Amino acid sequence: MSNAKIYPVPAETAKNANITREQYQEMYRRSLDDADNFWAEQADERLHWFKKWDTVNGSDLNKGVIKWFEGGKINAAYNCLDRHLEKRGSQTAIIWEKDDPKADAEHITYRDLHERVSRFANALKARGVKKGDRVCIYLPMIPEAAVAMLACARIGAVHSVVFGGFSPQALQDRVLDSDCHVVVTADESVRGGRNFPLKANADQALQKCPDVNTVFVVKRTGGKVDWQEGRDVWYHEAVKDASADCPAEETDAEDPLFILYTSGSTGKPKGVMHTTGGYLLGASMTHEYVFDYKDGEVYWCTADVGWVTGHTYIVYGPLANGAITLMFEGVPTFPDAGRFWDVVDKHDVAIFYTAPTAIRALMGQGNDFVTRSSRKSLRLLGTVGEPINPEAWEWYNNVVGDKRCPIVDTWWQTETGSILITPLPGATDLKPGSATLPFFGVEPQLVDNDGNLLDGAVAGNLCLARSWPSMMRTVYGDHQRFIETYLSTYKGKYFTGDGARRDEDGYYWITGRVDDVLNVSGHRMGTAEIESALVLHAAVAEAAVVGFPHDVKGQGIYAYVTLMSGKEPTDELKKELNDLIRKEIGAIAKPDFIQWAPGLPKTRSGKIMRRILRKVACNELDSLGDTSTLADPSVVDDLIEDRANR
Ligand code: ATP
Ligand code: MG
Repeated sequence: MSNAKIYPVPAETAKNANITREQYQEMYRRSLDDADNFWAEQADERLHWFKKWDTVNGSDLNKGVIKWFEGGKINAAYNCLDRHLEKRGSQTAIIWEKDDPKADAEHITYRDLHERVSRFANALKARGVKKGDRVCIYLPMIPEAAVAMLACARIGAVHSVVFGGFSPQALQDRVLDSDCHVVVTADESVRGGRNFPLKANADQALQKCPDVNTVFVVKRTGGKVDWQEGRDVWYHEAVKDASADCPAEETDAEDPLFILYTSGSTGKPKGVMHTTGGYLLGASMTHEYVFDYKDGEVYWCTADVGWVTGHTYIVYGPLANGAITLMFEGVPTFPDAGRFWDVVDKHDVAIFYTAPTAIRALMGQGNDFVTRSSRKSLRLLGTVGEPINPEAWEWYNNVVGDKRCPIVDTWWQTETGSILITPLPGATDLKPGSATLPFFGVEPQLVDNDGNLLDGAVAGNLCLARSWPSMMRTVYGDHQRFIETYLSTYKGKYFTGDGARRDEDGYYWITGRVDDVLNVSGHRMGTAEIESALVLHAAVAEAAVVGFPHDVKGQGIYAYVTLMSGKEPTDELKKELNDLIRKEIGAIAKPDFIQWAPGLPKTRSGKIMRRILRKVACNELDSLGDTSTLADPSVVDDLIEDRANR
């Protein structure tokens, strides 16, 4: 893709940017060549420390030891709240947009948030929660989710947020794995105009969790709930009785802040553990520089707080920076597919950050839902979670951004804590589909399967050659698994599990997980590339490509294709798709099978689960594996049925 289109930094963006091109180059070089001083300065400037650290970087990737700012005393909630009170106590911290579009949004000031957090922190203490204890948060997108996270941080407890859309089984596994004794939930959640029984799910999950002694229940809807005397406590009663004075615990920079399970698209979820100082530094720095955040702007990340994106870019990053962060309870398609843009207009959102899956879904609904809104407040767009197909990128740019909002395609993982490969709006020319260049302190390397370092414009396995402050520290309760999964494949490097290509400008193109790379008659190709070609067709909304064993070619190509609403699947269309691939990539990439798929199996965070699609393609239907993190398991049954009629 050396012929990829280039979108230069708009002059207006360059002029007002927090980081210019020259600054990026200078700072990036220094972040590698003079790393300890670079990070010490950043930590000093950006965060409040009760006491400074003894060592900046005590990490050793060979030994599986990751440590930053050890000996430093810091509190994440203090940094997100207390230190802002003097200057911006009466400024909005969180705008809460409810599911119901007609409901008034709630504006919570920094002072108000500080009080709510302090009260709930005391309520946790009153139920025996101490520093180091794990607290499970199973809540919908309501302000209490952020309050509960920060309340844990305030007293040095470790939160483990479990996405509110997860099943009782998934909740149970996570509560047990991290040995939580306290769970925070709500009576019901509200999404897309419907209520879901959250407390009932929690009750079911906790039947096999005898060590859970307290369940705080937020009253969201007033729906009917069962009650276990002694264990269950109404959240509003607990905070009413609690004092609003709760001094922040002086935790060590290396004390754990949270555990978060990965989304599970490749197998059994891992309890990724992050600590306090380095994580907060990465969150705050990337939020300011990647989103080019300016004081007073309304910033909206549409992720759920149940994912790392919600942790870092709804709660910790924005609040550490004293920003206004919007929290949305609902879904992109309720009451209709224009909701995102209505909310943008309603709150004058300047910065909007979402996932390719949402962009593709809305693209499939047509432009009218977008163009009926003004979106004149928008200044910057972002994406995260999967490679974005250039076609979807262009739509995001042209239709949503009216060709005037730079798009930051941010690559990172639960494990990395914050964004690692990304454009900076004022510094980086954009190429649709590329996450572009490394952030400060990040040293990406591409290696072949034997671990040999690859130079120049080349494709390979994406590794990171050195530790960065917001890196995960361990897999909770299983340090050996941490070392085996991330640090053993290529000795001395962190292996991301992703494949990438570097072009002649040094730009990185994430090609998907390395497990997804196909080898067809000796030709290696990324599934992302074939999918992007399929999505170029005007009738195609989404596509997923997997390999299956093929007698002649080694691997054959199996494509699942979802059509735009209103389009009919025909043999003629299949032929057009084959021709398109031949033209875009070459005959070698032509699918052996195209299966029309009204829906694709996705994780709750919207990622396509290729693992399951592979099984269906190979007709290995009795070994589908763990499907508990699927958003809609019935999709799989439909695919299996359709496969039979293929
Ligand atoms: P699991 O590790 O349990 O299989 P997961 O990898 O989907 O789940 P996350 O940590 O949420 O869990 O996702 C990180 C992955 O998402 C990355 O490794 C990468 O494959 C993909 N990803 C994230 N952002 C981008 C991006 N901008 N471009 C391409 N891929 C991305
Ligand atoms: Mg992963």
